Amino acid sequence: MKYFFALIVFGFSITVMASDHREQGAHVHGSAKMNIAFDGLNGEVELNGPGDSIVGFEHKPTSESDKKTQAEALEKLEKQIGEMVFFDSSLSCEWKKEKIDIHHETNNHSNIEASWKVRCKKSVIGSQLIMNIQSFFPKVKDLDVQILVDTIQISAEAKKSKTSIKIK
Ligand SMILES: [Zn+2]
Repeated sequence: MKYFFALIVFGFSITVMASDHREQGAHVHGSAKMNIAFDGLNGEVELNGPGDSIVGFEHKPTSESDKKTQAEALEKLEKQIGEMVFFDSSLSCEWKKEKIDIHHETNNHSNIEASWKVRCKKSVIGSQLIMNIQSFFPKVKDLDVQILVDTIQISAEAKKSKTSIKIK
């Protein structure tokens, strides 16, 4: 009897942990996360967000039109990231895609994981970074941006296009 009781308690605590995890924003439609880290002139940018906010839906595309929609969204992410995350043009930053992956979960949700290398000719310290992601993906309501440049750490939220972040 004691053993049976312990099992029930154990099962219950696992369930609570799993639902907490979701509520903490692991997958919230409209909400995405970006990490920007620079070591000198070399940076790495990572984006994580729900498929709903980037592609517009989260199921695995089967129809031609859904396949096209998904491909176009991912291509936009690949080709126009430098406009979505706009470093001052005087820094002459160049973007290079590392990966743009879409993970379909069994529960019919999906997540986008993307990363890029950025190489600038001048240090980004003291410059203004402009976040324009909503101009390209209006379903991103809230982009949490973490910036780490040498010893500078910034947490910012981009809730609309032309959100300016001073790197200092
Ligand atoms: Zn979802």
